[in-house]
Amino acid sequence: MLRPGHVRGVECHACAGESDETQEVSTGKEIESVGRLYTIKAIAGKGKGLVAATKILKGTRILSEVPMFRVPRDNSDIEALERIVAKEIECLNKDQQRTFFDLANIYGNAHSRPLGIARTNVLPLGSKASSGGLFPEASRINHSCRHNSQNTWNENIGRLTIHALRDIEEGEEITITYLAITSEYADRQRFLREKFKFDCKCELCSLPRAQQKRSDARLREIQTIDSSIANFFWGGLESERALHLLHKMFGLFEKEDIWDGSIARAYKDAYDIAIESGEKPRARVFAQRTYDTRRLIEGDDSPTTMKMKRVAEGLSAEEPGLSGADFENWLWMLPS
Ligand SMILES: [Zn+2]
Repeated sequence: MLRPGHVRGVECHACAGESDETQEVSTGKEIESVGRLYTIKAIAGKGKGLVAATKILKGTRILSEVPMFRVPRDNSDIEALERIVAKEIECLNKDQQRTFFDLANIYGNAHSRPLGIARTNVLPLGSKASSGGLFPEASRINHSCRHNSQNTWNENIGRLTIHALRDIEEGEEITITYLAITSEYADRQRFLREKFKFDCKCELCSLPRAQQKRSDARLREIQTIDSSIANFFWGGLESERALHLLHKMFGLFEKEDIWDGSIARAYKDAYDIAIESGEKPRARVFAQRTYDTRRLIEGDDSPTTMKMKRVAEGLSAEEPGLSGADFENWLWMLPS
């Protein structure tokens, strides 16, 4: 599925002089050869989706896929885009073209069919990347506001990876989020309707009204804390207060059943705060936790994971001889 604003032009690999033998493009076949953990099947009300073929444990790499082609993000000229996508399709072999034209198009007649399909299905090649990629298998993964998997572009291996964020039962649908952050119910619905043309009926969006209101309040509080943390780096917040807020945010994550990149980002914030404050023992623990989380979400071979591993290993600091709740109280500078 498309992430908004990701389609702004295309570079054509085959036409750039690479032969079919050396060019690694996704056909889905390389995934079959290592044994799939999922099947692609029709999901009621959602078109096709991925369903776990076996129990998948948290941290498992469910899918690792090379892009069929890439789509630059900095070209808003629709006519140029249509030409570029058409050229890219010409460069695909017949099997790949069949796979491509089997994908969904949520844009109707607003664009040519190839561009509509590309815009519907492109996934980002990193959060600040200048291009997106067309992944025939990963683009089948549907959205849930309580997603059980995470998509990450791994520059080291040139592949998009999908990792399980928690244990997934056999027969359960594999889902990712199309949202940058999990916002309140009304905001989520508006965004998904506007950008992806569907009404979300996921577990979170189907909560009874009273529970939904409590969930919204927690999500609002998470966003408020997130904004407050930025103040620390502008010099407007004491490190102790910043760590208390982050600790509170972890409590809200737990209540909201959020376990995704937000956890790694919050630990990284805690690490940055500890470093900035010269708190090396705490910084080492937070670096280790950031690394442990990234490893599960992205794998050992992701650049972010590898970087955090080096950071954690590079910090040697004496920690107090505490355990359990006492250790956590020390870590977050809470009263014991
Ligand atoms: Zn939802």
